[in-house]
Amino acid sequence: MTPQTAVHPALNRVLFDEETLRARIKELGAQITRDYAGKRLVVVGVLKGSVIFLADLLRAIGPAVDVETDFVAVSSYAGTASTGAIRTLLDLRQSPEGKHLLLIEDIVDTGLTLTSLTETLRAHHPSSLEVCTLLDKTECRKVPFTPKYVGFKIPNEFVVGFGLDYDERYRQLPCVGVLKI
Ligand code: 5GP
Repeated sequence: MTPQTAVHPALNRVLFDEETLRARIKELGAQITRDYAGKRLVVVGVLKGSVIFLADLLRAIGPAVDVETDFVAVSSYAGTASTGAIRTLLDLRQSPEGKHLLLIEDIVDTGLTLTSLTETLRAHHPSSLEVCTLLDKTECRKVPFTPKYVGFKIPNEFVVGFGLDYDERYRQLPCVGVLKI
């Protein structure tokens, strides 16, 4: 099956198939392992979109890094348009003070969510705070935001699969594809 062939009737086309995602996540894991070797790292999944990416990325980080896992939840989109409202629905279990934090996101679009979340977390004085996102819609920024680790840059299209949803559906798709609207 070629990457352009739809695997689900809801998709217009597939942007990244399983193999492509796996290979890129392996590279990101290797990069993170190099950058944090010998350190304790708190890998923080931003619920819910990051969960599938996070599960694969965690297993791609080598034993040189002492990994702790935590989650945060912020309010996000209803449908395909931004509500603009960002609320913290679930906070870290432990204080981030003095820790190396790596936030894991599914996608950066306007940059509003991560700008707000990183500002909130920085106020608690972590030793370091970086962001790793699977997808980056760089042309859609409303505020400047540059994640350190990016799986793939994508154009301004609404994508689902591999954790990304449309009203809680399609997260289970093993690929990332453009939704038929
Ligand atoms: P931002 O605050 O950067 O605009 O939005 C980030 C959040 O918007 C993501 O975590 C995700 O929930 C949602 N989002 C943005 N673009 C897309 C997209 O193309 N597909 C899906 N499923 N969610 C998106």
